Amino acid sequence: MRRFAYCKVVLATSLVWVMLDMFILLYFSECNKCDDKKERGLPGRNDALVKPRDGPGEGGKPVVIPKESQEKMKEMFKINQFNLMASEMIALNRSLPDVRLEGCKNKLYPDNLPRTSVVIVFHNEAWSTLLRTVHSVIDRSPQTLLEEIVLVDDASERDFLKRPLEQYVRKLEVPVRVVRMEQRSGLIRARLKGASISKGQVITFLDAHCECTTGWLEPLLARIKQDKTVVCPIIDVISDDTFEYMAGSDMTYGGFNWKLNFRWYPVPQREMDRRKGDRTLPVRTPTMAGGLFSIDRDYFQEIGTYDAGMDIWGGENLEISFRIWQCGGTLEIVTCSHVGHVFRKATPYTFPGGTGQIINKNNRRLAEVWMDEFKNFFYIISPGVTKVDYGDITSRSSLRQKLQCKPFSWYLENVYPDSQIPRHYYSLGEVFSYTANKEIRTDDLCLDVSKLNGPVMMLKCHHLKGNQLWEYDPVKLTLVHVNSNQCLDKASEEDSQVPSVRDCTHSRSQQWLLRNVTLPEVF
Ligand code: UDP
Ligand code: MN
Repeated sequence: MRRFAYCKVVLATSLVWVMLDMFILLYFSECNKCDDKKERGLPGRNDALVKPRDGPGEGGKPVVIPKESQEKMKEMFKINQFNLMASEMIALNRSLPDVRLEGCKNKLYPDNLPRTSVVIVFHNEAWSTLLRTVHSVIDRSPQTLLEEIVLVDDASERDFLKRPLEQYVRKLEVPVRVVRMEQRSGLIRARLKGASISKGQVITFLDAHCECTTGWLEPLLARIKQDKTVVCPIIDVISDDTFEYMAGSDMTYGGFNWKLNFRWYPVPQREMDRRKGDRTLPVRTPTMAGGLFSIDRDYFQEIGTYDAGMDIWGGENLEISFRIWQCGGTLEIVTCSHVGHVFRKATPYTFPGGTGQIINKNNRRLAEVWMDEFKNFFYIISPGVTKVDYGDITSRSSLRQKLQCKPFSWYLENVYPDSQIPRHYYSLGEVFSYTANKEIRTDDLCLDVSKLNGPVMMLKCHHLKGNQLWEYDPVKLTLVHVNSNQCLDKASEEDSQVPSVRDCTHSRSQQWLLRNVTLPEVF
């Protein structure tokens, strides 16, 4: 899911260029934290399970808040960083559209599918979203396939999540257990706790603000039974503003950028070809969003569950993705399974110790254990991250050894060739890499020329060479823009600090030193 949330890194548009070196300015906007402990979202709002067909939010429709309530709505929004007022108006068992591809609707699945426990961890979640998640699981899963629901309370500070929650779930027709973390631990260790006390052959993790749709479970379990892959549903979007239910696309899959932010990218042609164009077949995905997936219990054990040294939130989704692929597993998005999730723009809860610190620590742990020399792409674009203490990783490194996992270069080459991290590169300097495709590149941006004698710009890499093709001469130290046959020049118009391309004069303003450059012999 996620991961529009936390600190947004904004790449400054102005580049300050210094001869023989390059710097880029990164501005970090402050994380938007909201430490709100008000008692809201109490049980009893719209707990009635008998509802009018045209009630608020029915059929996944957006909820409209009347003008006179909008001030209050804005206040309530801050509590969970979604429209709590709208959520409370919607029935806990609202109806949803069937958003599946036609080809998914009549698929048949074996009778003897494994049973699943559904593990939902939460910290200060709203009553309405948590219980709507629970009801949607119960209402839309065949009872024979649902072992139990395990709710793990990660030290919430809201009274309604204590006894009232236990009393409420007791009367549900499926066993629902509530367990509590003794102290705030974060979603990783909370999920580990839930997994350890659960009983089903399969463990399905969900966030506490999801809604499962018709037929979501069978295709996930069928895939796991067939071969032990780790599977994710398509994650549909429940609007944080209106709680409208919007179908997610089967044409996007999970990736990540240099900052190790999870991102959705278009499913590449090679993956469409492998499935012979059948969009109802599962998509192999390089990474998972994190919050929603199913895994066989024994396989979860075998590949080393989660890294319990990770705190609160972040990094664990890439860590388990890399681990699955590098250690011989498969990670897929099952396109016939749809589950909705409320995507938030900001995080409502605190990160004890600081958001940046914690996320950087988690990311360092995964980079150090799984990414080999490619961790440097992350370190280069995240100033200061190498100073963050990441604790002891010996047990995770020995896990990698024990399972004889493949190198990260194998993953880039075979699983994620369209990655923003180039599999081959000649130089990785302070700011940019000089890739084997002869791009000067940082993350998904490439140095681009659109005008003779004009300034250069960082534009989205198109990988078509063209105006983004640069030839480095390690003797003359020039970077020649092949199309124009002009040289990258530090000097430009008097008062501008943006470098440009100029006719090659071999003056000092056209000499560039690439760090640790290893060029092939014939270059
Ligand atoms: N969570 C938790 N403890 C924490 C942080 C998060 O139990 O310290 C839960 C949270 O309530 C949610 C799940 O972990 O059910 C994922 O967190 P969140 O939804 O904030 O992540 P996002 O979907 O924004 O990535
Ligand atoms: Mn979430």
